[in-house]
Amino acid sequence: KEGVKKQFVTVLGSTGSIGLSTLDVISRHPERFHVYALTANTKVEALARQCQQYHPTFAVVADEKSAVFLQQILAKADVNTEVLWGVQGLCQVATEDQVDTVMAAIVGAAGLEPTLAAVYSGKKVLLANKESLVMAGALFMEAVQDSGAVLLPIDSEHNAIFQCLPQNSYTESISASAKYTSNLRTQGIRKLLLTGSGGPFRQSSLEQLQSVTPEQACNHPNWSMGPKISVDSATMMNKGLEFIEACWMFSASPADIEVVVHPQSVIHSMVEYVDGSVLAQLGNPDMRTPIAHALSWPERVESGVSSLDIFQVAKLDFEAPDLDKFPCLRLAQECADRLPSAATVLNAANEVAVDAFLQNRLPFLSISSVIEHTLSKIEDVEPQSIDEVKDIDQRARHVAEVFLASQ
Ligand code: NAD
Ligand code: MG
Repeated sequence: KEGVKKQFVTVLGSTGSIGLSTLDVISRHPERFHVYALTANTKVEALARQCQQYHPTFAVVADEKSAVFLQQILAKADVNTEVLWGVQGLCQVATEDQVDTVMAAIVGAAGLEPTLAAVYSGKKVLLANKESLVMAGALFMEAVQDSGAVLLPIDSEHNAIFQCLPQNSYTESISASAKYTSNLRTQGIRKLLLTGSGGPFRQSSLEQLQSVTPEQACNHPNWSMGPKISVDSATMMNKGLEFIEACWMFSASPADIEVVVHPQSVIHSMVEYVDGSVLAQLGNPDMRTPIAHALSWPERVESGVSSLDIFQVAKLDFEAPDLDKFPCLRLAQECADRLPSAATVLNAANEVAVDAFLQNRLPFLSISSVIEHTLSKIEDVEPQSIDEVKDIDQRARHVAEVFLASQ
């Protein structure tokens, strides 16, 4: 469009599931979006191919060795993308002056520093990396408030809630969010309904869950995602992390949020108002919808997602979550009522446990035991700095590893 400045976009985690969907949406709108930087952890060849296609100014990899390898491939292909490495490189491409928008799509705690760097420098931050908000909670939201960054949710549930909130209320809720008190009431909102598919084991018995393999856990019925979030969906920890994410993002108290199992994943979440109205956002389960929404917000652009065939869907089911079968969800909901460090500990222990499960070192049902044990060993506090958050994260990882080794 004439007169519209192109958005310069950094995609953190461009080789992952969200990263690929983001580049797919961007490719449909070359007049709107310019890829400024791409980053990957280990998939150097995939990143090289992306550089050949998008010619970003920078590409970032994990370490010096990968950087040298990437430089060699790019030199041969005559691509003049500059290669950086490590956390410093990630933070640089998240904060450069030319960058308008940062897609935060690194998985896990590794995303904390670059995501926060983007927030501190006042970027438009598209948050897929829910773990960074769960870990840092109030400090993260304070940084959003202080820097004037625009935080837009990519998690489909939070994006749905965002779309169903009263217009213009979101900026207000950001400024109030650091207080962690409910201001939903003043906006005429009674509650947020956070939907989830229930994962691949919604109908499995506890006995069947005992022998679940990583492959089965990663085989989600409705969504195709990276391995970590796939396991989180299978334990329902994903819904737990999202519960905490929603508390911070929308300054809701835990009592304001209800988890609803909705196996079709057609409704992506709902907002209930005091007059009894319930607004829902529907669509095919395809992350390109929330990604396109956030990239172009407050406008709308084509995402490549097909029309929802409502006749084919035919019916929508809802049920309450089974907290006995999915203790991870219960643990996360309890953490939302505790001091913020509890969520940091929960997240760290979960990352350690999920990693161990994916490496066949831990049975599926023991994931929650690792988390419960770790939570019982570390006292709840209200962290005053990101360094303190990182310290709690490290302590929790250590406790979880020691417990794992003793199993
Ligand atoms: P993924 O595993 O497919 O991709 C992760 C990306 O992060 C990759 O590009 C990888 O190279 C990079 N990465 C991993 N470890 C890193 C490290 N230590 N340092 C730097 N980069 C690293 O994961 P995904 O499914 O795309 O999920 C990404 C984030 O988005 C997660 O926080 C997830 O919870 C969230 N999310 C994903 C979906 C989805 O549908 N996939 C939906 C909602 C939210
Ligand atoms: Mg989600």
